[in-house]
Amino acid sequence: MRLNLIGPPGAGKGTQAHRLVERHNLVQLSTGDMLRQAVTAGTEIGLKAKSVMDAGQLVSDEIVIGIISERLDNRDVRNGFVLDGFPRTLAQADALAGLLEEKRMPLDRVILLEVDDEALVERISGRFTCSNCGAGYNDTLAPTKQPGVCDKCGATEFSRRSDDNAETVRERLLAYYKSTSPLIGYYHAKDLLSRVDGMGEMEAAAAAIEEILAAIRG
Ligand code: AMP
Repeated sequence: MRLNLIGPPGAGKGTQAHRLVERHNLVQLSTGDMLRQAVTAGTEIGLKAKSVMDAGQLVSDEIVIGIISERLDNRDVRNGFVLDGFPRTLAQADALAGLLEEKRMPLDRVILLEVDDEALVERISGRFTCSNCGAGYNDTLAPTKQPGVCDKCGATEFSRRSDDNAETVRERLLAYYKSTSPLIGYYHAKDLLSRVDGMGEMEAAAAAIEEILAAIRG
């Protein structure tokens, strides 16, 4: 199965992508994760991307298309993948369509996670992740059961993304509405779009996604 999750920052794309990886054995293709790894590793791409990411803006199409194109050459994607955070512009969406056509691996479905703009800043500003197992939490909406201890693995180290502050979040939202939201019409016109309510519990969105996948499989 080849899926693409779209939606504004904080809509739950990463969380749902993780679930899909666990449940359906898909490979997660997150350009955000790939770029953060490049920043940590201090590669040329990482150095170029860091200031853009910290400002909440979009890294150039050329860079992210290059990253994803290389990643799609890896054999592991043949068993299915879930794209999360790519494409984010129409140019990226066209490039992706070309790459997938070449490889005869068309997208099965594009799932839009819909959320209220108002909820997003609170969702993102409070989020943090277990440094050991990657479990996601939120200061007010989904805290750990025991303060400072991961519910899943018991680790006590957590990390926050440097671009998860209120000011950068506003910029990221702006980038979403300016550059990424046209993808909704684009994929609707290609008859690939399904909408899921991302406002409720993450299990409810996960269940709605499962229904969509069941319909694809027939
Ligand atoms: P994410 O983890 O998907 O929220 O991405 C974090 C940041 O990485 C974004 O705010 C952008 O600066 C950059 N980024 C990730 N994916 C893309 C993309 N497809 N196009 C441009 N910039 C991206």
